[in-house]
Amino acid sequence: MESHAHISERMKHEQLEVSLAFVMSKVEAYLSPYGMITAKAMRDWWTVTLDLKGRNVGATLAVALPCDPCGRPGRTMSEICVVLEHTYATLATLHEHSGGLLSELLDIARRQSTPAAVCAILLVSQQEKLPDISLLSALGIHRLYVLEHPHLAHYSTESYVDALAWFIQQRAPMLLVTSATPNGRDWMPRLAAQLRLPFVPNCLGLDIRDDGLFALRSIYEGRAYVQIRTALHGRTALAALVPGVRGTPAIIQQDSASMSALEITSFLPELQQRNGQERIRQISIQAPSPEEVELDAAERIIAGGRGVGQEGFTTIATFAHLLSAAVGATRVATDLGWVEHARQIGATGKIVHPKLYIACGISGAAQHTSGMSEAQTVIAINPDRSAPIFALADLGLLGDANQVLPLASKLLEQS
Ligand SMILES: Cc1cc2nc3c(=O)[nH]c(=O)nc-3n(C[C@H](O)[C@H](O)[C@H](O)COP(=O)(O)OP(=O)(O)OC[C@H]3O[C@@H](n4cnc5c(N)ncnc54)[C@H](O)[C@@H]3O)c2cc1C
Repeated sequence: MESHAHISERMKHEQLEVSLAFVMSKVEAYLSPYGMITAKAMRDWWTVTLDLKGRNVGATLAVALPCDPCGRPGRTMSEICVVLEHTYATLATLHEHSGGLLSELLDIARRQSTPAAVCAILLVSQQEKLPDISLLSALGIHRLYVLEHPHLAHYSTESYVDALAWFIQQRAPMLLVTSATPNGRDWMPRLAAQLRLPFVPNCLGLDIRDDGLFALRSIYEGRAYVQIRTALHGRTALAALVPGVRGTPAIIQQDSASMSALEITSFLPELQQRNGQERIRQISIQAPSPEEVELDAAERIIAGGRGVGQEGFTTIATFAHLLSAAVGATRVATDLGWVEHARQIGATGKIVHPKLYIACGISGAAQHTSGMSEAQTVIAINPDRSAPIFALADLGLLGDANQVLPLASKLLEQS
């Protein structure tokens, strides 16, 4: 690992180079039809010399540079940072949507006119081991920032907001992104409010150009898409990407020779001392049983509708437990009181993005499918071959779900 002194020296050089490239691109774009331009960095301002048809004209360009959130000139405009989540209890693995998130950002970086690096950020405590980060090199990520602090041993809103606010003030990246997971949706808007930075939640796609953040979002419960532009005025943009939209990256370099060298830099962020005044204190961590997992965070969902009847939901819960899946339902099932309303999927319920969705006794009305159409794999069990749900299904089983599920449970128990 590099020493802190070396890193800060290298950062200064990078900042200068990037800022110079930025200024030159702006000035050249405006004046190049008139003659030669040279620019020289003088601390926070620039001396620009123009050769207008043989006549030298000197000009001082006072801070035409983008400013960081604190108004300091000369910041690094070349970093796109992604805050990765890792398994909560064991710190063993990165969040399963990290690959998709990184791929999206690599695409954004490739589209930039000035070189931009995608940098991963992990927040950990010093005592704990890093998760397996081989995915980063395999995808071509060159830089990992590790924010280490004893208060980061477990997720807490305040410590994440403090640590990332500190990081943004140090590095001022052009874009900071995370997954719109329950944690990401918790800390990112607070960070945006604290630093007064532009923030776009729940994006399906992102781009950054012409000093603006372009985000694709779904509206009207997934029935329409809209692209919005947020003016940045040189500030760091914050965005949360809906997990699972991008899917697992298709090409991962497997051989170690072609894997990029990952430069790891550790920081000790300054977190506010709250001396027992924290708003949230952690007492213990208890993993919910799979069927209690929040639907929007679930990887696997077994959903039931009118066709399975009230008793059918007991069969669904047993099957879901064996598959470590969450239980979902149609509005008919929740309106009839078979399942609580929080489990309803669809236009007036939750929008879900699981890897696997098994629809049991569900016809596939548009109001239901608008909430689950982004599931990666859909299996439908229904005796009516004309049921619209089959049009969405990767695998359809013509039959009675109340017979199929107990059989499937038995097979799972035996295996
Ligand atoms: C404004 C509005 C908002 C709405 N919002 C939502 C929403 O958010 N979510 C939602 O889900 N709905 C919503 N609805 C309701 C929606 O239009 C449908 O009525 C509802 O989704 C149908 O639920 P279902 O598939 O359980 O029932 P049904 O449409 O009655 O389908 C039952 C299916 O079960 C099959 N079946 C029968 N027996 C079996 C068996 N033994 N095994 C397997 N399959 C069997 C049948 O063949 C049938 O296809 C909304 C409606 C309106 C008007």
